[in-house]
Amino acid sequence: MQIHRREFLKYCIGSAAALGLPLSVVGKLQNALAADAPLPKVIWLNAANCTGCTVSLANLFSDSGPADVADLLINTIDLAFHPTLMGAAGDLAVAQLLEASQGSYILAIEGGIPRAFNGHTCMLYTNQGHEVTALEAVSSLAQNAACVLAIGTCASYGGIPGGDPNPTDIVSVSAASGVSTINIPGCPSHPDWIVSTIAQLLAGNVPQLDSSSRPANLFGRKIHERCPREDDDEVHTIGLGYGCLEEVGCKGEKTRADCPTRLWNSKTNWCVGAGSICIACTERGFPDNFSPFYELRYSYTNYQKDSHELVVGGGDNGSGGGGGGGGGGAETPRKGSMVPIINLLLK
Ligand code: SF4
Ligand code: SF4
Repeated sequence: MQIHRREFLKYCIGSAAALGLPLSVVGKLQNALAADAPLPKVIWLNAANCTGCTVSLANLFSDSGPADVADLLINTIDLAFHPTLMGAAGDLAVAQLLEASQGSYILAIEGGIPRAFNGHTCMLYTNQGHEVTALEAVSSLAQNAACVLAIGTCASYGGIPGGDPNPTDIVSVSAASGVSTINIPGCPSHPDWIVSTIAQLLAGNVPQLDSSSRPANLFGRKIHERCPREDDDEVHTIGLGYGCLEEVGCKGEKTRADCPTRLWNSKTNWCVGAGSICIACTERGFPDNFSPFYELRYSYTNYQKDSHELVVGGGDNGSGGGGGGGGGGAETPRKGSMVPIINLLLK
């Protein structure tokens, strides 16, 4: 495949601030620009996942660097294998993977790794008649990789596929392979997080990681700290009024990522900006440890439609659980009130 390394490195340098690249990395990228060493190949595997991180990466558009993800992965980075994006298929694709695995390569894995039934619930490819499971592929390829990237929360910590009851025993890439990974979580992961981390690795720089093995420059601060609603009064009903959404379940206080300033979909918006809550999609234990996502804290019996005010009856300030419609003192919902509708949504 053709490699336009200079364009990619120029893009990373030009977009250093936006990508959150430290100055030291920019210097190394500039040095790399002057050198002529070949880039390591990238082998990208899709295990148990929805391919959402690949779709998210496909949203990468730029005027100044790689035009889109195809430009980035095919023309810029030497992508040896990606089951969704590559043109080759079947034996030809597997041959490329095997050839790349003989040299220096970065292994990027999207999705959790099923261990039950000896991994046979997730087959990745066939090699000379032998069906290779995600468990087998990851276990062998991770050993010799220059670096292993866990792309998305499934690969990083198990994520949604690894959620209760997890009948196929899906675990993270590091748990399945026994090899330490750089985790780039998110459900999905942000394209900038992926590109920024790969850029650092190409510059020969292993990013500083936090206690959850995430790049600290991207996941160092809580969502809540940079949320524009941090100083606002709390709202008690999704979609009614503007304010902090903690009372209705926002997990911004427990979640580390830079979504409020980075924004999503080519800087269009982010979860809280769109009126939803942060559901902690970048955190270990997502989704089980953060469910239910939405919470009811108050009785809505006395909800004042015109003023968006609540008259909280009988000291009812919250059961802490979703779907209960409030704790002690909550009145029985009157016919036609919002409570049945909200409870329905929460089921
Ligand atoms: S909406 Fe969420 S992230 Fe924003 S201030 Fe409230 S709790 Fe924090
Ligand atoms: S705001 Fe929260 S839920 Fe939304 S993408 Fe960021 S970390 Fe995930």
